[in-house]
Amino acid sequence: MPSAVFPHAAVDEVLRTVLARNPGEPEFHQAVTEVLESIAPALVERPEYVEAGILERLVEPERQVLFRVPWTDDRNRVQVNRGFRVQFNSALGPYKGGLRFHPTVNLGIIKFLGFEQIFKNALTAQGIGGAKGGSDFDPHGKSDAEIMRFCQSFMDELYRHLGEHTDVPAGDIGVGAREIGYLFGRYRKITNRHESGMFTGKGVAWGGAEVRTEATGYGAVFFLEQMLQRRGQGLEGRRAIVSGAGNVALYAIEKLQQRGALPITASDSSGYVVDESGIDLALLKQIKEVERGRVSDYAARRPSARFVAGGSVWDVPGELALPCATQNELDGAAAATLIRNGLVAVVEGANMPCTPDAVDAFRGARVLFAPGKAANAGGVATSALEMSQNASRQRWTFSDSEQRLQAIIVAVHDQAFEAAERYGAPGDYVVGANTASFVKVADAMLAQGVI
Ligand code: GLU
Repeated sequence: MPSAVFPHAAVDEVLRTVLARNPGEPEFHQAVTEVLESIAPALVERPEYVEAGILERLVEPERQVLFRVPWTDDRNRVQVNRGFRVQFNSALGPYKGGLRFHPTVNLGIIKFLGFEQIFKNALTAQGIGGAKGGSDFDPHGKSDAEIMRFCQSFMDELYRHLGEHTDVPAGDIGVGAREIGYLFGRYRKITNRHESGMFTGKGVAWGGAEVRTEATGYGAVFFLEQMLQRRGQGLEGRRAIVSGAGNVALYAIEKLQQRGALPITASDSSGYVVDESGIDLALLKQIKEVERGRVSDYAARRPSARFVAGGSVWDVPGELALPCATQNELDGAAAATLIRNGLVAVVEGANMPCTPDAVDAFRGARVLFAPGKAANAGGVATSALEMSQNASRQRWTFSDSEQRLQAIIVAVHDQAFEAAERYGAPGDYVVGANTASFVKVADAMLAQGVI
């Protein structure tokens, strides 16, 4: 089995420091380890990166903002959440990355996401740095008024750290059109500026971009298509196992269907649904986007579907796997089951959904594997298109925007594919994506001096 772990003394040293200096942040350790262990061939070729302390600087965020978010619930009780913004790296452009509102959010999660975002954003070639933020606030079961008050309080602190040339947030889990509206509105009021380019994912009627909603899911499928094409294969007629039922999953399902594949699953925290006749996307969208319901409601209304409470969606046989829910949702055991069931390709629609064990299993079985920082870059790439439109006061059509998105994803794919060949790991998109993006960021940091 080809290993993608290249030993290098400087990498070992930095990894030891990261573990010692950032206790209790396992997801951050995991993300840093995955990147550093695969870039050694680039360090051998360019020893000046090591001499200039690029690794030590790269793993330390440029700035981390932690703040109290007090708000009043509908029963007039005061609630307190914790807010985060980790501004990781701005060598390539203003900080850019989403906000996540979910009870599992903590500093280690935001740091892992921010670290991934540096490399993802570099791959898009759109001139954007890396950041992430969010809160341990849980939007589920909250009224609109509570969500608005929370978002306003969150922005009362965060606004001073943002700006179209400084830091540009967007959505992520738990932060969609509604939350972005409240956040943007508060920023506008506090600063007395209609500064469109300070937030992306805005409503299309007030500065948002066509295709931003669809972009992450569509982009993941474009990436998958490119990988299959390199092997002389296509999407037509293939059963696809999709996890999640949020923005990424819904639009991955949509594009899979447009390409003639057969997505048959969706999931949320309550369990998963299997629909052997193919997901009825209009029904699933109605339940998740309009009613804010559960996937179990889908099975209740669709005779060909069954709902499995708990359990693993990865038990369902299919040739394509698209984990689009959350980090570490697909482990080594699930990978083994998928491989036994005839898996051909995996595409990470979510950020780091596959554990290191799972990635090793895919590598060993020669299953095509697209890491999130390459495969789900379509979301942030389209955010950068939104920033361009805001800066130039232009509006591009849906089809123009989709073509631009597809061209960016093809370029992301090709960079990763070619870097993997160049650095001695042909077909390994983890090595390819990590080295191609690392070199871009490292070159910019080198040129800009020790700051
Ligand atoms: N949260 C998305 C991501 O993980 C999008 C970020 C953005 O558009 O800034 O890439």
